[in-house]
Amino acid sequence: MDHTRVHDVVVVGGGPSGSACAYWLAEAGWDVVLVEKKHFPREKTCGDGLTPRSVRQLNDMGLGGALAGAHRYDGLRACAYGLSLELPWPEHPSFPSVGYVITRHDLDQIVAERAAKAGATVWEGAEAIGPILDPATAGPVGGVGAKAEVLPSCAGARVLDRDAGRNHEVRARYTVVADGANSRFGRALGTSRDRDYPMGMALRGYFRSPRHDEPLIESHLDIRNAAGDVVPGYGWVFPLGDGRVNAGVGILSVEGRWKGANTTQLMDAFIHWAPPSWELSPSTLCGPPTGGKLPMGLSVRPRIGPNVLAIGDAAGSINPFNGEGIAYGYETGRLAAACVARALSGEGVHALVDYESQLQAAYGLYFRIAREFVRLISRPDLMRICVRSGMHSRSVMAWLLRLMANLVRPDELGPAEAAYRVLTAIGRMTPG
Ligand SMILES: Cc1cc2nc3c(=O)[nH]c(=O)nc-3n(C[C@H](O)[C@H](O)[C@H](O)COP(=O)(O)OP(=O)(O)OC[C@H]3O[C@@H](n4cnc5c(N)ncnc54)[C@H](O)[C@@H]3O)c2cc1C
Repeated sequence: MDHTRVHDVVVVGGGPSGSACAYWLAEAGWDVVLVEKKHFPREKTCGDGLTPRSVRQLNDMGLGGALAGAHRYDGLRACAYGLSLELPWPEHPSFPSVGYVITRHDLDQIVAERAAKAGATVWEGAEAIGPILDPATAGPVGGVGAKAEVLPSCAGARVLDRDAGRNHEVRARYTVVADGANSRFGRALGTSRDRDYPMGMALRGYFRSPRHDEPLIESHLDIRNAAGDVVPGYGWVFPLGDGRVNAGVGILSVEGRWKGANTTQLMDAFIHWAPPSWELSPSTLCGPPTGGKLPMGLSVRPRIGPNVLAIGDAAGSINPFNGEGIAYGYETGRLAAACVARALSGEGVHALVDYESQLQAAYGLYFRIAREFVRLISRPDLMRICVRSGMHSRSVMAWLLRLMANLVRPDELGPAEAAYRVLTAIGRMTPG
């Protein structure tokens, strides 16, 4: 690493969003440095489920072949109240009808290596300990007050080389914040999560299971807390095809409701009560379960500054409908790369402002509908009614799968599209 050079871009964090962003920038010929505090391969707490949206992005990065060793699955088995429905991935002109389950230990290394192969400098064991702020805008939010609309100007990152135990400055014309859900670097710049938005909390573990190579992932929509209430969330079992399954629980906190939910208790109850054929139990558990937060619906702001952008979980870009964040990491990383490339080519700050407009165009309305849906199901009585009635209709559940996985077709007017159009029309008319 030449520490005297001013790079075109520094990307902070080598998860799905950061590696995808670095890949697309390097592919376009820009000088990009990705700093990742850990060494690949490294664990990342996740359900490890890739939907067709993720698979599409991996294919676009030339990584379709790299998925050959991963466990392929064809759809979802939705279970609740003693009923189960098997729902294949829908056909869509822009996305393949296939998903994969692959550990983040393996997946994130593959994508980071792809970025390096495209020409990005991937610096592992390098922790960004803070932004290099322009003295004119120094202070956590550029001196503009506690709730700035934009991030301050940033000249790169101060980085701790964890292997050598030395600090360096990595200077760059543009900085991309991709340091995940906790986003210390983003918060040091002035990002914060809007607490009115839903927030997910999830816990997962790996279990040895005789059903490890099933062609469907399974979701349980009627998980309960200690009081016996059905909670807004789901339990999952995702087969990995290597003798193990990834099983866990996720719950949504909305407007303070369910905030104190105990995911360990929910997980214990789910493991106890999941179909015995999976053989989920403390004796098949491969290591202590780990958990994390899921910032959703573009809940983290601001996401742009004069020369800085936030992407992936650092921008709160997880889909509130299903807790999926890998695809949105890849997608926001790609959008950001295109805008930064335009900024570097002479458009400057206008291209970064356009990043925000493109985020709104791609996800604004959809996430707004998702937030309303989540608000609805955060009430145990409504959650119970929705799940109970949905489970009696294959077409309703097929529609829900399409909607929740963001796979509604723009070109067709089936029941899913018709219902979505009604929802979007209501969404457009509703203020706020
Ligand atoms: C329990 C659980 C289950 C989930 N299941 C799924 C699922 O099945 N499918 C799905 O699509 N999504 C799932 N998600 C969401 C998904 O994990 C995230 O949305 C996704 O990882 C976001 O990618 P990212 O690149 O933005 O952030 P991350 O994946 O968190 O990557 C951030 C990277 O930045 C690095 N980093 C952090 N700070 C610094 C720093 N200061 N300097 C340098 N590097 C730094 C980290 O080491 C990490 O590698 C789940 C989340 C949880 C918690």
